Amino acid sequence: MAITHRKDTRPVKVGDVTIGGADKVVIQSMTTTKTHDVEATVAEIKRLEEAGCQVVRVACPDDRAADAIPEIKKRINIPLVVDIHFDYRKALKAIEGGADKIRINPGNIGKREKVEAVVNAAKEKGIPIRIGVNAGSLERHILEKYGYPTADGMVESALHHIKILEDLDFHDIIVSLKASDVHLAIEAYEKAAQAFSYPIHLGITESGTLYAGTIKSAAGLGAILSKGIGNTLRISLSADPVEEVKAAKELLKSFGLAANAATLISCPTCGRIEIDLISIANEVEEYIQTIQAPIKVAVLGCAVNGPGEAREADIGIAGARGEGLLFRHGEIIRKVPEDIMVEELKKEVDKLAEEHYEK
Ligand code: SF4
Repeated sequence: MAITHRKDTRPVKVGDVTIGGADKVVIQSMTTTKTHDVEATVAEIKRLEEAGCQVVRVACPDDRAADAIPEIKKRINIPLVVDIHFDYRKALKAIEGGADKIRINPGNIGKREKVEAVVNAAKEKGIPIRIGVNAGSLERHILEKYGYPTADGMVESALHHIKILEDLDFHDIIVSLKASDVHLAIEAYEKAAQAFSYPIHLGITESGTLYAGTIKSAAGLGAILSKGIGNTLRISLSADPVEEVKAAKELLKSFGLAANAATLISCPTCGRIEIDLISIANEVEEYIQTIQAPIKVAVLGCAVNGPGEAREADIGIAGARGEGLLFRHGEIIRKVPEDIMVEELKKEVDKLAEEHYEK
């Protein structure tokens, strides 16, 4: 069952983005600014949008943050998720202020009237609620039952919160089960995919810095994605959140789950190298970041094995002495002088992207 879980989940709308019900995974990130600082928060969200972030979350730790939601919402183009802990009044304020989704655990809100108030407000605005289970903060009764955070305990916690919403006839639910331990996260997500069909938000929490955290997240989330589980994800890094989006995009590209992103293929270089491949590969990688078409671009150090090694590339360049060989699907199409070969490659990429956009 788990292998087809991604498509079998209930589609849930977050603004104009649908999470679930399809074999595509939505990229999320979270701002690092103080939410009440509207200028800084909007500026960061704009950078995230440009990098390819599809849904953005802001923390809502105080009233000043909740009050800033309408202004932030007005000035950004992607759906806005507001993250609230416990306080139902902030949840109501965020919903009233235009949040496209809220993240709150209904079991932590308190009295039934408060839960009902939040659920009714979300229903009225047609926005979903994300339940965020975290291995580090499981409910006391679950910890007492299992002794320590386990995958079964995490799923039980999710089901506990889900039931509260279902009992109020609320079904626009998205669920995350984050853990910092990769094995625990994988097991929890697998079990969750068997236990319910609400869309699943993936994440490895507190995964670390840019380099280590990216590898840890890719290892854990890759294992989960490969089983057909996961409808949206955030790679959490102790870094500029734009890096989270870039890492998420690369991860999804390697599973063929990023709908419209260009991919770079570049060789590791060896003694046959004829061009300054590393700097060229970095330049081309930067260039294709904003291309929204599924094009594969190759940059190879030499022509000996080059074009053949990258047969799947839609366009590529292989170094030769003093020149570059432009090739498509393994066939050389023309030679270009070394000093203009990167520019020529970029032009070819643009042409392919145009063809894709016109389709
Ligand atoms: Fe070496 Fe050429 Fe292969 Fe690059 S493409 S690894 S330079 S043989």
